[in-house]
Amino acid sequence: MTDPTSPRTTRTSSAHRPPSATRTPPGTTAGALRFRGPVLPDGESRDLYVVDGRVTYEPVASAELVAEGWVVPGLVDAHCHIGLDAHGAVPPDVQEQQAITDRDAGALLLRDCGSAADTSWVHDRDDLPRLIRAGRHLARPRRYIRNFAHEIEPEELPAYVAQEAERGDGWVKIVGDWIEREAGDLTPSWTRESLDAAMRTAHEHGARVTAHVFGEAALPDLIGSGIDCIEHGTGLSLDLIEQMVAHDVALVPTVKQLDNFPNYAEAGRARFPAYADHMLALHRTRREVIGAAYDAGVPIYAGTDAGGVLPHGLIGQEVMELATYGLSPRDALGAASWRARSWLGLDDNLAEGTTADFVVFDSNPLEDLTVLGRPSRIVLRGAVVG
Ligand SMILES: [Zn+2]
Repeated sequence: MTDPTSPRTTRTSSAHRPPSATRTPPGTTAGALRFRGPVLPDGESRDLYVVDGRVTYEPVASAELVAEGWVVPGLVDAHCHIGLDAHGAVPPDVQEQQAITDRDAGALLLRDCGSAADTSWVHDRDDLPRLIRAGRHLARPRRYIRNFAHEIEPEELPAYVAQEAERGDGWVKIVGDWIEREAGDLTPSWTRESLDAAMRTAHEHGARVTAHVFGEAALPDLIGSGIDCIEHGTGLSLDLIEQMVAHDVALVPTVKQLDNFPNYAEAGRARFPAYADHMLALHRTRREVIGAAYDAGVPIYAGTDAGGVLPHGLIGQEVMELATYGLSPRDALGAASWRARSWLGLDDNLAEGTTADFVVFDSNPLEDLTVLGRPSRIVLRGAVVG
């Protein structure tokens, strides 16, 4: 299969490259490497070798033993933002540092859920995580964080979806709801008609669509129009959860981010009291709602939402927080590793001959998820990077 994190176009120009960036010289993994220990998800104890960037279980006599421990397929942050901070786009040297921070936490595959910066240069760097970009957020005028999105009207949505599908790596990100000043509360961003056309357009371009949604009202049209994934999802009902299961719509709840709802509520209370109360209500029921989606079988993936408000490098904490929502340790870790890699098209969970992206831990993360904060070795594309 083709690698979905390979650039689909070759528009990368040196203008987008951080000044210090150099391509990792080939040959840094010249010698065969050996790792020993239980390999997740099945947990069978094995000797895993890395030869020319690939996994093999055929013994290589000359291989150097690098580490012993629990070997986990490269972690995935399924919702982060490389190239953003709270004020909008950041320059390439900051983008690079964000990617390195994620990598050093073991996150070797990032689904970027919208960025105002062109980060396609990251694809050229073997020492940075694999990156799946969603282009730039699509939102209504003055109804999202300033400087983040293309701010457009519903009739423009399909054309912008086509554009971002071409610019990205197979995903498009839309803002499904946001505060509407006249209503004083969250309201849906788009008409059903515009969403139907947008989903058709994205799928014709081979891209999947995901949406930021905090409230209840935007969800029926987003799910009804054939969306592929919901971000946050705090307004889900049992009926919509059933529809998500039936249509295999994923959920990335960003549970660390949900802890910020009381802050967002208080920041808006003076001007928008109904919004503030709504955000607090969504916060109060978040565990029940996300737990119901998990119990019903909605595919859930781990995303930190780093890059807007939250810092990068917190994938381990996101997994730990997911486990407090009722996910078993295996499901919480799978949501940030083998299951997420498969969902994003890297069906390479350390099988013979697959690319060597993995993290080694000193003890079993399934027995104690806090070990995720302390990777002992990080291997990306066959090179030891941490
Ligand atoms: Zn986000």
